[in-house]
Amino acid sequence: MYKAFLIKYAEIAIKGKNRYIFEDALVDQIKYQLRDVEGTFKIVKEMGRIFVYAQSEFDYEETIEALKRVFGIYGICPAIVLEDEGFEALSKEVAEYVKKVYGDRKLTFKVNTRRNKKSYPMQSMEVSSALGGVILDACPNMKVDVHHPDVFVNVEIRNKIYLYSENIPGPGGMPLGTNGSAMLLLSGGIDSPVAGYMIAKRGVKIDAVYFHAPPYTSERAKQKVVDLARLVARYSGPIRLHVVNFTDIQLYIYDKCPHEELTIIMRRYMMKIAEQFAKADGCMALVTGESIGQVASQTIHSLAATNEVCTMPVFRPVIGFDKQEIVDVANKINTYETSILPYEDCCTIFVAKHPVTKPNIEIIRRSEQKLQEKIEDMVKEAVDTAETILCQ
Ligand code: ATP
Ligand code: MG
Repeated sequence: MYKAFLIKYAEIAIKGKNRYIFEDALVDQIKYQLRDVEGTFKIVKEMGRIFVYAQSEFDYEETIEALKRVFGIYGICPAIVLEDEGFEALSKEVAEYVKKVYGDRKLTFKVNTRRNKKSYPMQSMEVSSALGGVILDACPNMKVDVHHPDVFVNVEIRNKIYLYSENIPGPGGMPLGTNGSAMLLLSGGIDSPVAGYMIAKRGVKIDAVYFHAPPYTSERAKQKVVDLARLVARYSGPIRLHVVNFTDIQLYIYDKCPHEELTIIMRRYMMKIAEQFAKADGCMALVTGESIGQVASQTIHSLAATNEVCTMPVFRPVIGFDKQEIVDVANKINTYETSILPYEDCCTIFVAKHPVTKPNIEIIRRSEQKLQEKIEDMVKEAVDTAETILCQ
């Protein structure tokens, strides 16, 4: 039935002279998400609106699914586009349309008319009330409620006439590419893919770093992270995933430093290395899946100790989330099932029985001095030998 979609986006963020940047990025992302959908589409910016027109047969469900992954879209309204052939013809179309969409359902409705074409012979209010009557005749179970209708029947009169009523929620956020880029520390867990999704949703392009520790962590554990990156990339666009061999550094820390400080020191090196990749990729920030108090390395003291080595802002979008809230997002974006696959993580292998929960930064720094001899070379080696995988 539909051949067009009216795309609704939030206007608060885009008032003023930068609006076109936002809209152009949104158009680009719509094109990107529709690239694999069956059908040919034309995306048009007109009069403060974005329309997606299908120019061939197309797969409706797939189209909706793709548009639901475009950050910046608040609503997807499947629309009927009509030539202006007079009010009688319009009435017939409206009656047909409302019957098709709502059938015999008991619903209240309101007709909203916008008339951009001032030469149209009737005023908006007149059109609305006349079409209200038409709908009442066509659908005896429907009633008018102008204050709190269950559904709106929208009619926009321009050169053509647009008819739409359904509003399918989009993901919200801002179009990718409108807010720079950031480097995600991506592990095989539940939290970091969600963190990446949340930052990407604000229009930030993301790349990622994964630290693995072969042979302590398996090829399958790495594959799981690649799979997670691909799942996040369905929303965020292609992710360049840097896979860093962290084994020697971990063993060295294990050898030289008190075991209860191991996780903190290790995490400090992860941040430092991630920052090097971030700088090389032109990223402005780091992103992690940390949440206050979730584990010993995420107490407020531990977070402060980890953060201390970073020179870039570190974004922790799930910092105030409970685990269940993170799981809810993971389910929504379809990463949860992959995240809970039971492959070992490099952090779990070297964890101490009693890790510090209130690390003292001075003491940590003193422990790190024991690494002086080799650590710089080892960090360089880890960065130089990293493998980069394009996940899309
Ligand atoms: P997640 O579910 O994201 O793995 P977690 O609860 O297991 O989180 P930690 O292992 O303490 O938490 O890690 C905290 C954050 O540090 C992760 O969310 C991730 O951003 C980063 N991180 C941890 N391990 C790795 C790793 N092996 N490679 C890259 N980043 C990591
Ligand atoms: Mg983890």
